[in-house]
Amino acid sequence: MKESQLDKAVNILKKSRYTIAFTGAGISVESGIPPFRGENGIWTKYDPQVLDLEYFHEYPLESWKVIREIFYDYFGFARPNDAHKVLGRMERKGLLKCVITQNIDNLHQEGGNSVVHEFHGNSQTMECTACDHQFPSNKVDFQNLPVKCPKCGGLVKPAFIFFGEAIPQDAYQESLEAARQADVCLIIGSLGEVMPAAMIPWEAKRNGATIIEINPKPTNFTGPLTDIHLVAKASEALLAIEQKL
Ligand code: ZN
Repeated sequence: MKESQLDKAVNILKKSRYTIAFTGAGISVESGIPPFRGENGIWTKYDPQVLDLEYFHEYPLESWKVIREIFYDYFGFARPNDAHKVLGRMERKGLLKCVITQNIDNLHQEGGNSVVHEFHGNSQTMECTACDHQFPSNKVDFQNLPVKCPKCGGLVKPAFIFFGEAIPQDAYQESLEAARQADVCLIIGSLGEVMPAAMIPWEAKRNGATIIEINPKPTNFTGPLTDIHLVAKASEALLAIEQKL
């Protein structure tokens, strides 16, 4: 990470009246959550069809066994890292309006952010496919699969979106609205490959925002969109920014 780029980013953040953060899998890697895509991604080990809505309804037990293993046995122990925590402190100091995240791990909330727009839902909430009843995942007995609704006995799925499902409308609208208000958009740990989430920083740019990207490698955003690229891991760059803010 170049010191001159860091100083430039800090100066822009200091002057900003409306900064938003757009985050992807890269911010949670330091918490031990591997990305889904790419080499060593989760989908190199598991078959993604367990998150196909039709397959899930047809084979709920088979799907749930894998879902439990990936999202609850394995992710369940993840804790927020310094990158999440810096964003939480920035919000409390009035330096960050909201986080728009593609992640479903709840680590932004655990890291101290209260305004989090979850583009792809959240794994810590469960919802009934029959009556829409929602309840927290810590109320679930994972020994008893597939998970059934305590109210109506219907099949329960985690409240993150499966393949073929639409983006939650509230999160979608609120994210677009924030992108249009923003004068600075931080991109952290996202490769910009998943649509429509990846269009959020573009929407911010179209409305005049400066784009500050924090990613260890160039991404789809870097050339055409990014104004300042901090080439670093999320925690390293955010801790350095916080020190100078
Ligand atoms: Zn129900």
